[in-house]
Amino acid sequence: MVYLDYAATGVMLPEVVEAMREAELEFFANPSALHTPAHLAMNEIEKVREKLAKMINAEPEEIIFTSGATESNNTVIRTFERHEIETSPLEHHSILETAKIFRGEKKPKLYSYMFANNETGELLDIKTLIEKAHTEGGYFHSDLTQAFGKVPIDVKELGLDYATISAHKIGGPVGIGALYVKKGALFKPLLVGGNQEKGRRGGTYNTAAIIGLGAAIDEIFKKRASSEYDTRVRALRDELARRILEEVKGSSLNTDLSPDKSLPNILNVSFRAAEGEAIQLYLDAEGIIVSTGSACAAGDGKPSHVLMAKTGDAEIAHSSIRFSFGVSNTKDDVEKVMEVLPGIIDKLQKMSTIEV
Ligand code: PMP
Repeated sequence: MVYLDYAATGVMLPEVVEAMREAELEFFANPSALHTPAHLAMNEIEKVREKLAKMINAEPEEIIFTSGATESNNTVIRTFERHEIETSPLEHHSILETAKIFRGEKKPKLYSYMFANNETGELLDIKTLIEKAHTEGGYFHSDLTQAFGKVPIDVKELGLDYATISAHKIGGPVGIGALYVKKGALFKPLLVGGNQEKGRRGGTYNTAAIIGLGAAIDEIFKKRASSEYDTRVRALRDELARRILEEVKGSSLNTDLSPDKSLPNILNVSFRAAEGEAIQLYLDAEGIIVSTGSACAAGDGKPSHVLMAKTGDAEIAHSSIRFSFGVSNTKDDVEKVMEVLPGIIDKLQKMSTIEV
């Protein structure tokens, strides 16, 4: 299998699996209890909190563990229930849908703009928006789900008030994430009824998953120090883009490949007169795993809201495929895609009434 859907979820790193296996056996106690095994478990959780804080230049007490990015995003939006909320049109549905339900007229206003988009890899220019938000006395949240671990992020330098993180996009487990909340920023817990996380997020700690997140962060630190991930993954992504443009009729990129414009690992491409979902299924039959838009919205039949916002062209949106790379990918994978993709697109284009 050629797995090219890392933006939907990554393969768990072997170091993460090992750390979690040990954690399940060793740190089984409920960390909130008062006995020694509880203290040992809590100690491990605090180590991960420190690691995570260091990675984004936050204070450990500014990190709240959650069940993932969807919960972190919901928590921020619900904190601003009945407040003015402005988001980019490219946000994940866990922002867009929540904001639609809960926004109102009250001030201070919340701005929520993701750091990098999950469908195209686009890096949004949020710096001036953050300044604008603060000049107006508002707050700024950024969904870092796709950017965390891929590009350096300094929440203090950026001036973020809230930031969302998820473990499973960086080789950690699904179902664990975090929310950065700047000291003094407005906050309302989403899950109440437990004193965990200083009353900011109720629910028994998922110790093994938190330790898994910590192990994934350790691996990122190592890889980033050697800039291995970035260089290798970017080279594969750019090579695939170059070959698609050269070898596949009617192809156009929806990702700007310049290093300051996109994440290194995501490539979104449209193929004229070929349906994205059909391409995905044909590739799947060849053992090549990709996505159309975002996995969370897959199957609803609607064109990607991200590509519609960017291009306004339903045909481009309907004919798009996202290739997203990760640690396991090699040049051989690009080769395998290019062995079958031109034929699949040609077959679909011949069936279509649209001229290429
Ligand atoms: N935000 C973005 C930008 C995402 O890409 C995703 C995952 N597709 C999420 C939020 C939701 O993440 P989680 O699975 O951790 O809830």
